[in-house]
Order: sequence, then C-alpha cells, then structure tokens
Amino acid sequence: MGSRTVRARGFASATGIVLVAAASSLFALPALAALRIVASTPDVADLSRIVGGDRVVVETLAGGDQDPHAVPIKPSFVARLNRADALVVQGLGLEDAFLPALLEAAKNPAVMPGRSAYIDASLYVEPLEVPSSQSRVQGELHPLGNPHFNLDPLAGRAMARAIAEGLERVDPAGREAYREGLARFERELDARLDEWKTLAAPLQGRKVISSHQDLSYLARRYGFVVVGTVELKPGVPATPAHLEALVEAGRRDRVDLVVHEIASPEGLPKSLADRLGVPLASVSVLAGGLPGTSGYFDSVEANLRSLVGALREQGAPPG
Ligand SMILES: [Zn+2]
Repeated sequence: MGSRTVRARGFASATGIVLVAAASSLFALPALAALRIVASTPDVADLSRIVGGDRVVVETLAGGDQDPHAVPIKPSFVARLNRADALVVQGLGLEDAFLPALLEAAKNPAVMPGRSAYIDASLYVEPLEVPSSQSRVQGELHPLGNPHFNLDPLAGRAMARAIAEGLERVDPAGREAYREGLARFERELDARLDEWKTLAAPLQGRKVISSHQDLSYLARRYGFVVVGTVELKPGVPATPAHLEALVEAGRRDRVDLVVHEIASPEGLPKSLADRLGVPLASVSVLAGGLPGTSGYFDSVEANLRSLVGALREQGAPPG
C-alpha cells in the first residue's frame, strides 16, 4: 500500500486506506511487536527461536565457525544491541572477549548484565572446573569455570529453561507461549536423548586429548575421559615441553583420540595425533560450525558422530 496509490485515489479514499491500514496493524500486533532478541551465540539463538516462536525475532552475533573467545567485533553488532529488547548470552564468561565492549558502545541500559532483559542461559548450569583464585590471575579464558556446557544436551535443557524464564520476564504477556515453547523444546530433546546415548556408547571409557578445554561436560555425559589439552591452559598456547609431556602421557595412558576444535588451527592437534598414531576428530563448540549443521540439535549430534566416526576409523585393523 504505497503513497502513490493514496495520491491517485484522492483524499477521501486515502483516509479510508489509512484507517484500514491502522485496523490491520492492530490485528497483526503480535508479529509487529515481536521482541527483538540479540543472541551472543548460535546455540542460544536457536534455543531462543524454539522457545520464543513467532513472538521473537532473533539476531546472532558470533558465527558457528568462530572461536567464541575471539569473535571479531563489528559496528553492526553495536546497532543490533542498541535496539534490542533483550540479550541472550550463554554466560559463564564465554562472551567476555567481545560482549562487554559492545555493550558499553551500544548504550542500551535494558540489556546490561544484571538487568531484566539480560538473559543468562548459564543460570541453571552447575559449572565445572571453577579455578581457584590463584589461577585466575594467569589470564586464562575460563575464569568462572568451563563455559562450554552447551555441548552436553542436558545442559541444553537447563539453558532453554533459563531462556524461557528470561523471555517471560521481559514479555509477561507471552508467558503461555514461552512455557509451550519450552515444553516443545523438551519434547524434542527427550525424543533424541536415547538415540544419542546409543550413538555415543562407543565413547564410554575412551581417553582423549582435546585442543581446548571444551569437552568436559560432554565427556561427563557420555563417559569418556579428557586426559589433557594441547593448550597449556584455556587460551594459553602449548609450549614445546608441554607437547612432549602430552605425547608421553598419551602413550602411557593409551589415548584413543585427539580432538580438534574447528575454529582453532589444526596443526598441533594433527601432529600430536600422528605422533600418537591415533585418529583426529573435529568438533565445534558452537552450533552450526560443522558442515551440514545449523541448529542446536543437529550440532550436538554432529559432534557425537564426529567423535564416534573417528574411533571407528581407529578400530579398523592396521593395514
Ligand atoms: Zn573455552
């Protein structure tokens, strides 16, 4: 309904058109008034879409193939945050490398930490590997504990619950819709958990070395053991002495697998796997990072398939 039409039809019908337009916008209110959500990562974006349904429009900051500890800041992020009705973060410091500076520039008090439109998906997650106060001063990337809980699908359930409660807080009129959205997410998750348990069974009791300290929650869920990381500490690169110690530990502990995180360089994990004579598997710490994935569920599954697939490769008798 352009202004050209209005002019052509003259004042009387133009008024009619305006009234019709006003009336139809009233009926279309839920869509027009959709909450503008900014999600820091693809994982919390997907969960927000599932829980929020058509009451929300979600924009994401980090890409699935990026390292969440090193997301490049773009001016467009500031604009998105400035007009956001709510911000959903994965939390536990995962976004500390990029979000605080963006929030300061965005000047939107409603979505600042501690405010009601700042929705922290880690609220109901019990953090693993919370460092002691001494190790915190060493500049590592997990100062509040390990923030990579999203790889464990049961943490996904806790995240969805925190998101549903946050959306309800920001938009109380949507209470029923968000509760239904959460129930929909939980039904879909429950339908997959048994399947994933079966899929992950070969991981039980296996020993892995990962490039970054990002598998702890997944390992606990599916019964494998992370015996070390290529990084000295989260965000602190390996030293030659550390790599030699890893090779030694890998041989002694009969490590089955080295795991590489797709957003980090493959070189060191690959050479470690070669030296240990074990396969290398790739995982993504963010949804949508592995080929063919886009949402939370298919990303959880793709990581499991990648780990199990690599073990199968190892299971093949040497030629
Ligand atoms: Zn990390």
